[in-house]
Amino acid sequence: MTGELDRGGPGLRGCPVLINAAGTLTRLSGGPLAPGVLEAMVEADAVSIDMFEMQAHASRAIADATGAEAGLVTTGAAAGLLLGAAACLAGLDVGRMNRLPETDGPDEIVVARGHRNGYDHALRAAGARFVDVGFAEPLAGAGVRDTESWDYEAAITARTAALLYVARDRAEPPLPEVVEVARAHDVPVIVDAAAELPPQENLQRFVQDGADIVVFSGGKVLGGPAGTGLMAGRADLIASAALQMLDVDLRWDDWRPPPGFIDKARLRGLPRQGIGRACKVGKHEIAGLLAALGHFLAEGDDARHARWLETCRRIADGLAPQGRFIAELEGAERTTCVPRLVLHCDDAARAGALRQQMASHRPPVQTAFDPDRPHCVVINPVCIREVEIPVIVAAVSG
Ligand SMILES: *Cc1c(COP(=O)(O)O)cnc(C)c1O
Repeated sequence: MTGELDRGGPGLRGCPVLINAAGTLTRLSGGPLAPGVLEAMVEADAVSIDMFEMQAHASRAIADATGAEAGLVTTGAAAGLLLGAAACLAGLDVGRMNRLPETDGPDEIVVARGHRNGYDHALRAAGARFVDVGFAEPLAGAGVRDTESWDYEAAITARTAALLYVARDRAEPPLPEVVEVARAHDVPVIVDAAAELPPQENLQRFVQDGADIVVFSGGKVLGGPAGTGLMAGRADLIASAALQMLDVDLRWDDWRPPPGFIDKARLRGLPRQGIGRACKVGKHEIAGLLAALGHFLAEGDDARHARWLETCRRIADGLAPQGRFIAELEGAERTTCVPRLVLHCDDAARAGALRQQMASHRPPVQTAFDPDRPHCVVINPVCIREVEIPVIVAAVSG
């Protein structure tokens, strides 16, 4: 293997390639497609479909998988955040949809300071303005309390359009407490759960906790195309999101949306091409994501974890004891996580040198950097193909 693709057609021949031992990072092209995904995309290519019908079909599959009322396939979790914000800003008011990102109604999204991150851009692009609340004082080393639910409550006014919650392990405050505050004021909660799989139960967990909209990445552990995501939530919000993304260039009288998906009687007309049109999703991606979702549900946490663990073990078995690091299998017992092979070095400089050595290999091997453990080289198995295992071993051995 070299660092360039020396086979294949005109699309990729000569393009630099690498081995991704870092996990499903977008900048490294995401992960391998789950079995059956490519076939589903080819199948979609052989037919023409009304895109409202296709998204209504996807909505039923996503509703079944998540327990939500409805769902939508998007071009990623970030696109789901943009569409979710657009849905909360406009509802089913087509005049408001047409004016976004200019707003004339409630347009504030209340968020804990400790939840803010670069993906916020997606919600602001729809026209939302952020209102930051609370502090992550334990993180700052300045106190014992993170943001509390009353912090949100104190910031909710008539201008509030939604609350944003970024889910992760031990996120504070707990989502049910935030939902309770939101419900009391009739404000929807958008949950960014882009990278919260596994465990598989998280597909349903945030919906059960009362989220009005939840977004997941399709190109992370779900095993869908890198440019996909899914959105699950309240039927009226999903309908609004769909109307603001799908091609709506047709005459009102000719438009027959699937009744369970969009209720034409609730609209005063068809909006123009919406703010979400810039992140339109194609039929190949929708078919691919649905196949990935089906495979994800069928495989289950245990089998998935065993597959990843086997990859870690085979790499660990190939590494001769070298004294440069101590290799440790992490998460081997907990089947609801992604296990990892962690190479503990003496210090951050040595770990940096090892990562550099692997990145200089031909083909380059990219590893994960964990800011909490700069003295470690972390090998994440999710994107590693079987044929790449000996190459990774060689790259570590130098
Ligand atoms: C990956 C990620 C996103 C973006 O997801 P895409 O599917 O790549 O658009 C958003 N939020 C968080 C927390 C993420 O980890």
